[in-house]
Amino acid sequence: MNNIIDGKLYAQELNTNLKISIEQIKTKRKPKLMIIQVGDNLASNKYIKNKLNACNKVGIIGELLKFEENIIEEKLIEEIRKLNENKNVDGIIVQLPLPNQLNEKIITDTIDPSKDADGFSPITLGNVMLNNSNIFPATPFGIIKLLEWKKINLIGANIVIIGRSNIVGKPLANMLINKSATVTVCNTKTKKLSEICKTADILISAAGSAKLITEDFVNRDMTLIDVGANFLDGKYCGDVDFDNVKDKVKFITPVPGGVGPMTISCLLQNTFNLYNKKENL
Ligand code: NAD
Repeated sequence: MNNIIDGKLYAQELNTNLKISIEQIKTKRKPKLMIIQVGDNLASNKYIKNKLNACNKVGIIGELLKFEENIIEEKLIEEIRKLNENKNVDGIIVQLPLPNQLNEKIITDTIDPSKDADGFSPITLGNVMLNNSNIFPATPFGIIKLLEWKKINLIGANIVIIGRSNIVGKPLANMLINKSATVTVCNTKTKKLSEICKTADILISAAGSAKLITEDFVNRDMTLIDVGANFLDGKYCGDVDFDNVKDKVKFITPVPGGVGPMTISCLLQNTFNLYNKKENL
C-alpha cells in the first residue's frame, strides 16, 4: 500500500490551478511579490530561488531586493515602507534569518498587514485565531490543505503538534481548533512526549530535530506530518526516522516532497488573495 502523502504532486496541482486563475485576470496589472534578503546566507539563497521560480511558473511577478549584510535597521525599515506605499506591490516577505544588528520583529512588523504574504503579522495572526482570514501562515496553510486533500478527518480528531513557534505550531493549533479538532501542543518541556504522541490520530512534528520521531511515537492508524527541515550527515531530512517509521503509520509525508512544496504553493496563494483584495476581485 502506498501510504505516502505526495505534497509535491498536490502543490503542482494547486499551482496549475492558480496559474489558470492568474491568466484569467482581466486587468493589465499582475500580482507582484517582493522578497527582501539581507546578506548572502546559502540556505536563504536556495529558498529564495525556489520561491522566485514558483512565482514565475504561475505568473506572479517575483522580485528580489537584496541588501548588504551590514545594512542598518533604519535604512531597511525605510525600504520596506517604500514597498508598503508602492501600488504595484501586493505581497512583501522578509527572508529569515536576519543578521544580528536587525531586530526580526521590528523589521517584519514594518510590513503593511495588507501586504503580509507570509501571514506572520500580529494582525494576520489575530484574524487567523478569530477564524476571520483568508491569509494564513504558509506552512500551517499547506499542512491543512494536504490533510483535506487526503480527506483525513479533522472534526473531533485528536491532533498532537510538536512545536509552538509563532510561524508553525501556534497558528496551526488555532487553525485546527477552528476546524473542531482536539489539539495538544508540545514543546521541549513536555513530559512523556512519546506517550502523548502515540495516542494521536494525527501527529505533526515541527521540532527541527532529525530522527526525533521513532516508532515509539506512532500507531498504525496515525497520519504523520513531518514539518522538520534538517541536515543530518549532509543529507536533507525531516524530524521523522522515516525508514523505520513509514510502515508503522497509516499515512506519512516525506522530506523532501511533503510540507515544503505546499508551503511555497500557499505563499503564492496568499499573494494572489492579497492581490484580489486590493483589486476588489
Ligand atoms: P522553532 O525552532 O522556532 O520551534 C521549534 C519548536 O519545537 C519549539 O517550540 C520547541 O519547543 C519545539 N521542540 C524542539 N525540539 C523538541 C523536542 N525534542 N521535543 C519537544 N519539542 C521540541 O522552529 P520552527 O520555525 O517552528 O520550525 C520547525 C521546523 O520546521 C524546523 O526544522 C524548520 O526548518 C522547519 N520548517 C519547515 C518548513 C517547510 O516549509 N518545510 C517551514 C517552516 C519551518
